[in-house]
Amino acid sequence: MTHPVYGRIDGAVVIIGFGSIGKGTLPLIERHFEYDASRLVVIDPDPGTHTFLAQHGHRHLQVALTPENYRTVLTDLLGQGGFCVNLSVDVDSLDVMTLCRELGALYIDTVVEPWKGFYFETAENASRTNYALRQRVRDHAAADPGGPTAVSCCGANPGMVSWFVKEGLLTLSRDLGRDDAVPSDRAGWAALMQSLGVKGIHIAERDTQARRLPRPRGTFVNTWSVEGFISEGFQPAELGWGTHETWFPDNAYRHATGCQAAIWIDRPGAITRVHTWCPTPGPQFGYLVTHNEAISISDYYTVGDPGAPDYRPTCHYAYHPCDDAVLSLHEMFGSGRQQTVHDILHVDDIVEGIDELGVLLYGHDRNALWYGSRLSNDAARRLAPFQNATGLQVTSAVLAGMVWALENPRAGIVETDEMDHVRCLEVQRPYLDPVEAHYTDWTPVTDRWAQFPEDIDETDPWQFRNVLAT
Ligand code: NAD
Repeated sequence: MTHPVYGRIDGAVVIIGFGSIGKGTLPLIERHFEYDASRLVVIDPDPGTHTFLAQHGHRHLQVALTPENYRTVLTDLLGQGGFCVNLSVDVDSLDVMTLCRELGALYIDTVVEPWKGFYFETAENASRTNYALRQRVRDHAAADPGGPTAVSCCGANPGMVSWFVKEGLLTLSRDLGRDDAVPSDRAGWAALMQSLGVKGIHIAERDTQARRLPRPRGTFVNTWSVEGFISEGFQPAELGWGTHETWFPDNAYRHATGCQAAIWIDRPGAITRVHTWCPTPGPQFGYLVTHNEAISISDYYTVGDPGAPDYRPTCHYAYHPCDDAVLSLHEMFGSGRQQTVHDILHVDDIVEGIDELGVLLYGHDRNALWYGSRLSNDAARRLAPFQNATGLQVTSAVLAGMVWALENPRAGIVETDEMDHVRCLEVQRPYLDPVEAHYTDWTPVTDRWAQFPEDIDETDPWQFRNVLAT
């Protein structure tokens, strides 16, 4: 594998957060960019980070960014521009991105992260949604358009999956024997999705990575940030709400302001199950964990007035994390207590498995198409150091987003739906092996248990009423 150098970063390279994603992103930055190595700094309060960085010749600033210190710390480092790569938990994305734009520095993150305390100390569930977090960023982008590029939510999901939606639509168009032109703007993409008859999209993921040892009781095990997963799992379930839906959940709510593309359910996402489909297991349960892309994709593909659209797809995450994480969730929600020991599966401890992450475009003439990455841990080990398959899908998307930002340095605040998906996937694809398209005849009403009749709508299989497991 060759490692093309995509460009030069002038000024500082500041990485905030050096957990599973930060560790995996650094070697990709080293491979693919020219920069002044003496100006690369990693900010992380974890003292354990220091030894690793010192061994690899990198500078570590051992500090936790807070609302009080972030301006001083980051202005010192990015005062003459550069690139800020925010891969932390508990550091507010909008505050840091706004400062970077003031300083003329490029910026990227993988989620809209709030300051510490937001997830568990915010009183109202409506205010704890990703809708609220995202809308703040969208409002800011609208009020202050253009200027230095800040890429919001550019990991695997949110991130790469938005590029897969576009590739999936073009694949479906070809396989239906149509000769649609490749759209060049948001309205064109939304019109294409509508005309293809897509009713909705699951971000359908199955992580089968496992290590040899069974999960110890009292430990939360995951393949990426345990803290990040617990935080989002405790947020209310959320989904982009499509125009084909005829039923509305009793415990769901709309939003009075903002893009209006999504609803939230008064129940934690990580115990809200949905019926979904991935190539390896076929039909499976996934968790309706809230994610930025569920809202951004429904928003991006809306046709007509956002308050009363002609067309909008339903969109949500349907996540089956690795089996150890499923058991960890079971233990945590059952006991009412978070485990104090957190363990992220290390690439060298994993003995088998893949992270299968794609988009299931459903409701059209071919029923459903899953388009996505099926990266194995073995392939990840071969392709890049310090990360498992889950990590590499995220970090290679960060790489693609950084390349796009360098090539489009005055694009303002953007989400991945708004970026050139062809260029981004061109950069990312060498790290995704393989990417595949699979059609299925399965629908959410296939093979339900006749012994236990459910309140479902068999006349319209892709209704969310049928997707939501009771
Ligand atoms: P992690 O838990 O492994 O690491 C987070 C790091 O942030 C830790 O090293 C921690 O010490 C550091 N940190 C905590 N508070 C900080 C502060 N105040 N200032 C600076 N650093 C601080 O998490 P991860 O798996 O590396 O994930 C990092 C981020 O990426 C999370 O927000 C996560 O939700 C996100 N993520 C996104 C995707 C995606 O596909 N979009 C996938 C995985 C992770």
